[in-house]
Amino acid sequence: MTTTPLDSVLSSVAELRAFTDGLRARGRRVGLVPTMGALHVGHLALVERARQLADDVVVTIFVNPTQFGPQEDFERYPRTLERDVQLATGAGATRIFAPSVAEMYPKGEKTRVVVSGITDFLCGASRPGHFAGVSTIVTKLFNATGPCVAVFGRKDYQQLKVIERMTRDLLLPVEVVGHPTVREPDGLALSSRNQYLTAEWRARALAIPRALEAAHAAFSAGERSAGVLRARVRAELENAGLRVDYATLAHPDELTPYEDEESLSGRTLLAVAAFADATRLIDNVVLGDEPSPFSGTTPSA
Ligand code: AMP
Repeated sequence: MTTTPLDSVLSSVAELRAFTDGLRARGRRVGLVPTMGALHVGHLALVERARQLADDVVVTIFVNPTQFGPQEDFERYPRTLERDVQLATGAGATRIFAPSVAEMYPKGEKTRVVVSGITDFLCGASRPGHFAGVSTIVTKLFNATGPCVAVFGRKDYQQLKVIERMTRDLLLPVEVVGHPTVREPDGLALSSRNQYLTAEWRARALAIPRALEAAHAAFSAGERSAGVLRARVRAELENAGLRVDYATLAHPDELTPYEDEESLSGRTLLAVAAFADATRLIDNVVLGDEPSPFSGTTPSA
């Protein structure tokens, strides 16, 4: 019998549990990489990392409706299952879990997992309910898979912090690992939403890594004024025609924003969200983390 990559796709929680129960019974470490599909090299880096940390890797592909707002792109989010399965298995995934919405949200469901405090800022402020959707689906995926380790990207920095906090607070038996942001050679962070961009808006979007890199360099050179750094970042984004949702300096763990009047003392998160036309892009850098995550990429003016 010939096998195709789609043979590695599971769609029910019962099948997934049976599969990972079998792995654990044989003493194998299970790794998990949750995604919404439309996979790119950034996602594949997480799969490869998970393969280093576990014997078997489950990649989940699920466009989670509860993390999208009513005006957001849930309907048009790219869905490319067959290609994703090829890419994920090529990168080392043992199984793909691609459930339906009804499988993950049984009829009549009434439960949400809510992490407070750190969800009040940044994307949590701009996208009400988004992180409750994220923490709820990630809890379900942890419960369905039973992984020893799960890998998430630092590109979604606040999401990573929310999941770390939730895992710690709820005593979930899984190690959460953050992986560095994977960028295009010109500095743009890889994102499934980049495919919405025209060539012109993609070129304008390079202002995002350019602004982050400039702020990182200024911080390394001794600039400590939150207001000065923030103003530079905003100006760079606005000069490129991007509409700034937020450009915020914040505590790297608590995510509390710093006021413009404040002087930064230690490692500081600089996070931005900006619209390139109708496409909302996010990116971040931790000031004070060396070497620069942009070395090797050369965002051009
Ligand atoms: P998504 O499918 O975009 O929701 O992302 C699934 C996982 O991939 C999340 O943990 C993201 O943080 C991670 N991810 C997305 N883009 C990147 C990137 N450019 N570099 C590293 N991780 C990423």
